[in-house]
Amino acid sequence: MTSTSQTPRISIIGAGPGGLTTARILQQAGIPVTVYDRDPSPGFRDQGGTLDMQTDTGQKALRAAGLLDEFMAISRPEGQDMRSLAKDGTVLFEHHSPEGETDAPEIDRADLRELLLRSLQPGTVRYGTNLDRTEPRGDGRLELFFRDGTSEMVDLVIGADGAWSKVRPLVSAAEPFHEGVIFVEIQFDNVDAQHPEVAKLVGRGGMFAMEDNKGIVAQRQSGNRIRAYVAFRDGTDWLERRGLELDNASAVRATLLEMFEGWSPELRRLIEECNDLFLSRPLFALPVPPQWTTRAGVTLLGDAAHLMSPVSGLGANTAMLDGADLAQAIIREPDLPSAVTAYEALMFPRAATNAAASHEGLQMMVSDGAPDTDHFALEHQGSK
Ligand SMILES: Cc1cc2nc3c(=O)[nH]c(=O)nc-3n(C[C@H](O)[C@H](O)[C@H](O)COP(=O)(O)OP(=O)(O)OC[C@H]3O[C@@H](n4cnc5c(N)ncnc54)[C@H](O)[C@@H]3O)c2cc1C
Repeated sequence: MTSTSQTPRISIIGAGPGGLTTARILQQAGIPVTVYDRDPSPGFRDQGGTLDMQTDTGQKALRAAGLLDEFMAISRPEGQDMRSLAKDGTVLFEHHSPEGETDAPEIDRADLRELLLRSLQPGTVRYGTNLDRTEPRGDGRLELFFRDGTSEMVDLVIGADGAWSKVRPLVSAAEPFHEGVIFVEIQFDNVDAQHPEVAKLVGRGGMFAMEDNKGIVAQRQSGNRIRAYVAFRDGTDWLERRGLELDNASAVRATLLEMFEGWSPELRRLIEECNDLFLSRPLFALPVPPQWTTRAGVTLLGDAAHLMSPVSGLGANTAMLDGADLAQAIIREPDLPSAVTAYEALMFPRAATNAAASHEGLQMMVSDGAPDTDHFALEHQGSK
């Protein structure tokens, strides 16, 4: 597709890693695009932890976006270190990342977003525009309605708006379901000075201990911080049923410590010493395989298309690869309907495989059978 006065109007809903990657590659080819995000500003909310950008997914997308060198310069290759512990603290598996390993360097989500945002022309992302609904028009175009009362007529809307996508209902009735697992996010600041034992346990990269249907996953971030997830099986109403409120940090801490009775003191220390901020993240996924009948004028990518559990570390990676594939199809194909068809033919099988693996991985990690150390070691090698 070439950029002319008849260039179709393309809008992306969602300035996550998938939407921003798509916008960057389209702009590089001279194709105009606007991104809408409901957040009032890029710094409005904590962007979360760290992501590893894998060679054949996230890095491939960054290369297509012309940003791989910049990514390599700011990423943390030492973050590829990984340790797996039993609940008694025994080290089951350890990977020490050798000098020069670039298979899956880590980057904080906020830094990745900053890298992508910086690469876009000023004004590309319109923050504070929350998509409310869409309506098809007779001429094949769609009208987007935003909560601020504005509307926009588009030839293609790309739903990159995450788990609870407002674009998805245009093509699919699928709804996220709870995987039966809760992640409680916890954080540590100034770890080397204030939490030296935690810093030692987690090391330069990641540490996980999964046993008895629960576990703890911890990852070092930039800025001398650690973010961890306390995982267990329960319903989305776990707080209400236990009469807990997240801002009552001492009660939540006591409940978690009770759950992890009998675990080694160094693992329990993560719950004892973390900041007073506890965030409940029930894990949701979309049914596998993702599938819909291709429809001109609309498509989905990333979590909006194939929300999956985070255990495979593939969510952001595949969202970015989806974005790269879609943008390249738009650039390559003669018109938008052909581009959407070509993109979805690539995305569906990949998403089906990755989402199925993520689902099985989560069910296996948070199970009676964990720790399956052979499986963890293979998974780790497989992601390299
Ligand atoms: C605990 C946890 C750990 C994870 N760890 C990893 C990991 O290590 N590696 C990895 O690859 N993935 C990981 N993931 C998954 C990863 O975060 C997601 O898969 C990834 O962010 C999806 O990117 P996206 O661009 O599709 O959507 P998102 O990042 O969800 O972005 C969607 C954007 O759309 C905007 N939006 C939503 N609704 C609207 C609306 N109505 N109007 C306008 N804007 C809207 C939102 O504000 C947001 O900016 C993890 C997820 C969780 C929960």
